[in-house]
Amino acid sequence: MTIKKLSPEELLGINKFAVDEDEAHIVLDKAICATCKEKPCLVVCPAVLYTLKGGEVNFDYAGCLECGTCRVVCKDKGIIKWTYPRGTFGVAFRCG
Ligand code: SF4
Repeated sequence: MTIKKLSPEELLGINKFAVDEDEAHIVLDKAICATCKEKPCLVVCPAVLYTLKGGEVNFDYAGCLECGTCRVVCKDKGIIKWTYPRGTFGVAFRCG
């Protein structure tokens, strides 16, 4: 039997997401993010949901793994809301 080793991207692609289009479970205040010098969210999110475009932090809560890391490292409190998604929404881990 051969066991295929999956890349992180392949493993993340196995998960299923029920995205709550009506209510984001994570919300940023981009004015605060703009003044944050370190922007740790750009490097800690395992799903790479935070990106920098034109100097502005962009974020899409779809694909969130609900690990809470961004909430912990956001020392300037640019994340003004962090909750788990409402019932029936969010990530369903399919591999482990
Ligand atoms: S909770 Fe985890 S996966 Fe979701 S956005 Fe924050 S760091 Fe990324």
